[in-house]
Amino acid sequence: MSLNRRAFLTRSVSGAAAAGATLGAQAEAATLARPDRAAPPDAVGILYDSTLCIGCKACVAACKAANGAPPVVPPTLTDWNSGIWDSAEDLDGRTLNVIKVYVNGTREVKDREIDGFAFVKRHCLHCIDPSCVSVCPVSAMLKDPVTGIVSYDQDACMGCRYCSYACPFGVPQFDLSVSYGRINKCEMCSHLQAKGEIPACCDVCPTGASLFGKLTDLQDEADARLEVSAGAAYAFPRGRLGDETRPKHTAAIASYQNKVYGKKDGGGTQLLYLSAVPFEKLGLPTLPQYSFAGMSEGIQHTIYKWFIAPIVLLGLLLALTYRSTRHHHGGPAQPSPHKS
Ligand code: SF4
Ligand code: SF4
Ligand code: SF4
Repeated sequence: MSLNRRAFLTRSVSGAAAAGATLGAQAEAATLARPDRAAPPDAVGILYDSTLCIGCKACVAACKAANGAPPVVPPTLTDWNSGIWDSAEDLDGRTLNVIKVYVNGTREVKDREIDGFAFVKRHCLHCIDPSCVSVCPVSAMLKDPVTGIVSYDQDACMGCRYCSYACPFGVPQFDLSVSYGRINKCEMCSHLQAKGEIPACCDVCPTGASLFGKLTDLQDEADARLEVSAGAAYAFPRGRLGDETRPKHTAAIASYQNKVYGKKDGGGTQLLYLSAVPFEKLGLPTLPQYSFAGMSEGIQHTIYKWFIAPIVLLGLLLALTYRSTRHHHGGPAQPSPHKS
């Protein structure tokens, strides 16, 4: 059967489309085939209970002190209190932890969505299956196999900032104030933990809003709070969960959202949130219950595995080119229709 050039190209395009469809289906299958990674059994974490947070920002100052980060003084304040206030408004190259506030209407009642306000603490969530680790081409982002803490290796970093773009929470910040720049983000005060201490933000928190502990214990603690009726008295642990030497903070249980944010969101995180206002109002994104790292790695592996499709297509095009040039250069001479 003869195949003219138009028919060949039509079939080639159809074949490529079919190959693409197959590729897409395979990618979906691979996404499902790549299970999310689980937290190490002894992973540590932080439970942040927004309803306990009084917005004192002691954790922000303690974080800076513990990590050698300078204060951020907005230019508008320098006239009258230069150097006194650390007024970081968001995460940046010098701020690893920040307290933000949700406000609505008259802002009268704490932890109320309408005409109320609520605080939220923002820093690295130490994802169980982190995108920043997945995308880093030089393994400068590392997840500890024992604690699950996601740390950063400045010596390995080449400054591409893929981690900043890949993080669904916008956490890694590039600090341009140092030579060659560096990524800054919370590393859960692993340098303090190595000395038997707890993260500075949890150590200083007066109400237990930031609570350090073993991840599985924190998950149980968060679930237990959701089981208690709103208004009932509850003795909230402070500092480290299970540390009986530190007095507890007794207060009424809030009317929580019926969910622990971070338990499954984005594949799970080691920073867990409880809140009385919807989590999205606190700036926490609505994420699927699988990790983006697992999905993207699944697609990548499928594309590499099935790269055979474009190779076959290229082979067909080369065969057509060869057949065409053989007629022009290697075949028998054709008589000219104009020659008498
Ligand atoms: S929150 Fe962002 S920076 Fe932190 S571990 Fe997750 S992906 Fe990485
Ligand atoms: S764990 Fe340490 S680095 Fe992270 S927010 Fe708390 S104080 Fe800052
Ligand atoms: S120290 Fe505790 S109460 Fe104060 S802002 Fe930080 S998390 Fe909230």
